[in-house]
Amino acid sequence: MASKAATILYIEDDNASRLLVQRVLSNHGHTVLVANEGLEGIALAREKNPHLILMDINLPHMDGREITTRLRSLPHFANTPIVALTANSGPGSRELALAAGCTGFLTKPIDVAEFPHQVDNFLQGRSEPLTTDERNIHLQKHAQNLVKRLENKIRELESANKRLRDLDKMKSDFIVLVSHELRTPLTLISGYTHLLEEQIQNVDSQLEPASVTSIANGLNMGVQRMREVVNEIISVSRIASGNLELVLGPLRVDRIIGSLCRELQEICDKRRLTLTVDDLSGLPVIEGDGQRIQVALENVLGNAVKYTPDGGRIDIVARQMGNTIDIIVRDTGIGIPPAEQPRIFDQFYVLGSIEHHSTSKSAFQGGGLGLGLAITKGIVEAHNGRIWVESAGRDIEKLPGSTFHILLPVKQSSQEPRL
Ligand code: ADP
Repeated sequence: MASKAATILYIEDDNASRLLVQRVLSNHGHTVLVANEGLEGIALAREKNPHLILMDINLPHMDGREITTRLRSLPHFANTPIVALTANSGPGSRELALAAGCTGFLTKPIDVAEFPHQVDNFLQGRSEPLTTDERNIHLQKHAQNLVKRLENKIRELESANKRLRDLDKMKSDFIVLVSHELRTPLTLISGYTHLLEEQIQNVDSQLEPASVTSIANGLNMGVQRMREVVNEIISVSRIASGNLELVLGPLRVDRIIGSLCRELQEICDKRRLTLTVDDLSGLPVIEGDGQRIQVALENVLGNAVKYTPDGGRIDIVARQMGNTIDIIVRDTGIGIPPAEQPRIFDQFYVLGSIEHHSTSKSAFQGGGLGLGLAITKGIVEAHNGRIWVESAGRDIEKLPGSTFHILLPVKQSSQEPRL
């Protein structure tokens, strides 16, 4: 038993070490408090005033030496024994810990029989010596380490701040775009509603079935577009929260591409875009969620149409490579700068200024919500696939074009390694 029961604070992030030390010292009559990391440890030390502090050195955020220096700066802990307890006993680590303010230095794994006596010695006033020369050398090193860590932390904070500012801008742009995207069909709906009201109020006029049908069609168009916008927002929030459920079944990519191309043909004719599709009949039937894959491909093909000026080309090829199929959509459009290529798959990311946003889904550079590719990536990755783009850069005159690759596994087995 210890000569006198003490309260000991152990700052350690490793659960197993915490439990062992706690058990050994409690059996010896001490009360052991534990903290996971530095800030929690400092707060607990201030609250409970322990008689001794055991300090792990390799801790996340602040390391044990930094916590010790901070504690020593508080008048209450100027003389409290603080004992480093670390697995890292390389050359200089003892001296560095002592220079930072530790009273002693013990190594892990602890010797269960010896450990309570070692702790008692420190409780009774033992302190490991360090010559003035050694202290000076190691204090300097400690100060250099602190400044280096501070510099890295500032860098990390700056880049986190930048990322937050970018995200904030993307979100406010997104709100502008959503209002814009919703207002356009809303104007359409309200126009047709007025028309209907006028026709009903005009007692002289007979309501012609043809005119009612045309008004109903107009209303439907507006409602349909609003539904699309809302569905896009819902899809992206499902993907972001990892709630995208797939309904798996056999699916034929050649058929999906065929039907999408038929839908796009009219727009391509209007805009004099040449749309070619390789013979895809040799592609295997793959396992996947047909509706979702259709959405994913529709987004990529829709973008190829949107970002290729009139008179350009869009070529679709696909090939099987072992257990994978690679679908390639190549356009002769404005291209994407290499630095932006990974970011276009982020939510809300719209390259270029939103002021020139036009709602048309098919017009050259017609606007979107910046959600299309985020949804596509979410769907492809939910199928254990991969999507990326290759492009030499953005140039509205030279038109370097973009090539999107979508890799999808043929089978969705749970053992399938991610592509
Ligand atoms: P949006 O709804 O704005 O089209 P997406 O997520 O589909 O959003 O695309 C994000 C951005 O990626 C677009 O704003 C566009 O600048 C760029 N982009 C996507 N596809 C292409 C392409 N085929 N050619 C050039 N730029 C593209």
